[in-house]
Amino acid sequence: MDHKHLYAGLIRLHVLHHAVKEPIYGLAMIEELQRHGYKISAGTLYPILHGLERKGYLTSTEERSGGSARRVYRATPAGAEAFSAAKLKVRELFGELFEDEEPLSSTFEERKRP
Ligand SMILES: [Zn+2]
Repeated sequence: MDHKHLYAGLIRLHVLHHAVKEPIYGLAMIEELQRHGYKISAGTLYPILHGLERKGYLTSTEERSGGSARRVYRATPAGAEAFSAAKLKVRELFGELFEDEEPLSSTFEERKRP
């Protein structure tokens, strides 16, 4: 069980977060997601990018360098707006998910004690 279904929205928001800040492309995004602990393949990410583009959140252009070409994605104004709204929802959820937990720093102090 890889919980792909649960993480799908998180991955979409993560992609949109980067696409709002800078142009992104598939391979770099796969590496970025791996850095954050998501084992995602091109076969999973590309349909996500295409879906976000079809919904109007992203727009893409083909950029050529030398003999190779890659598709570069940027957030559309509608995508940036949707992301700002989603970000507030994430903050709200985050607050509830962690409301009963110790702040990270004090938990760390606890662990250091013998
Ligand atoms: Zn990131």
